[in-house]
Amino acid sequence: MLHKIINLTVRDVRFPTSLEQHGSDAMHSDPDYSAAYVVLDTDCGLKGFGLTFTLGKGTEIALSRNGPFSPFKHTSSGVFTACVFLSEDQMLKEGYPAYTTSCAWLGYPDQQLKQLCTDALKSGWTKFKVKVGADLEDDVRRCRLIRQMIGPNNTLMIDANQRWDVDEAISWVSKLAEVKPLWIEEPTSPDDILGHATIAKALAPLGIGVATGEQCHNRVMFKQLLQASALQFVQIDSCRLGSVNENLAVLLMAHKFQVPVCPHAGGVGLCELVQHLILFDYICVSANLSNRMCEYVDHLHEHFANPVVIQDAHYMPPKDPGYSCEMLESSVKRHQFPEGDVWKLHQNK
Ligand SMILES: [Mg+2]
Repeated sequence: MLHKIINLTVRDVRFPTSLEQHGSDAMHSDPDYSAAYVVLDTDCGLKGFGLTFTLGKGTEIALSRNGPFSPFKHTSSGVFTACVFLSEDQMLKEGYPAYTTSCAWLGYPDQQLKQLCTDALKSGWTKFKVKVGADLEDDVRRCRLIRQMIGPNNTLMIDANQRWDVDEAISWVSKLAEVKPLWIEEPTSPDDILGHATIAKALAPLGIGVATGEQCHNRVMFKQLLQASALQFVQIDSCRLGSVNENLAVLLMAHKFQVPVCPHAGGVGLCELVQHLILFDYICVSANLSNRMCEYVDHLHEHFANPVVIQDAHYMPPKDPGYSCEMLESSVKRHQFPEGDVWKLHQNK
């Protein structure tokens, strides 16, 4: 039976994560993780929930139809998110492998890096990502520190958040080869497909792959990246692409090219959303876990009605219906920008 959508509410929800440098990287020194949060009401009482992730000011662009970056598509990815429900015995028992980005944000001091690595190892994490790209000497020191902490057999990845030009990326990453990163993520402009191909070719002899995709806004870009052998790891994003359908096209193409998919997550709600896509990829498309893992960041899950469940560094399949993006009303109210209590308090400081 068809039901009618009778109301649509969009709210600007922001979390002051910049205060403690959570989310800091080579390009974003003070991000406030935020969401354009959408609730649909229907005539039968059912509700639909969706969101798209931003770093704060980006919400203003996402909520405007006339901005320069086709923003309506991004907002619509929040509107279209609904009703994905997957389960499969193996995943229910073991979960989907995850890696953590929470140990090594660029703005964290060494003591904090060490403590977070120690805690993560105790909790069963074996795959770690380090932010790089602001200062080479600092990167060498921090990457050596992390490699020392996690040992030679655990997996380490590095992420430059688009900081370099092509030649700079090759020489910078070559100098980090000693810590044996599995991939360099976003080494240069996310739009530079042939630049990524040049970097991938240059780094292949060092055993370092190129990972990208969190800023790719449609399947055509992914098609060209795959055709040009410009990436060895496909990083879909549940909000950057036009929601589920566009993501499914990329999953199918990655399978055709036999390139592993390792989704981007973190931010606000990205882990909650993308867990559905990667479970679908495993159960219905790839049936392969080799070199595959989903990003995990441990902030802001407490604001969701059905937050992700991580056990022994694996995403456990969600058992609630829907796309896991319903936020707690109390959290939305407190963080609504600029009138929520959190922001009023912040402005008064
Ligand atoms: Mg990244």
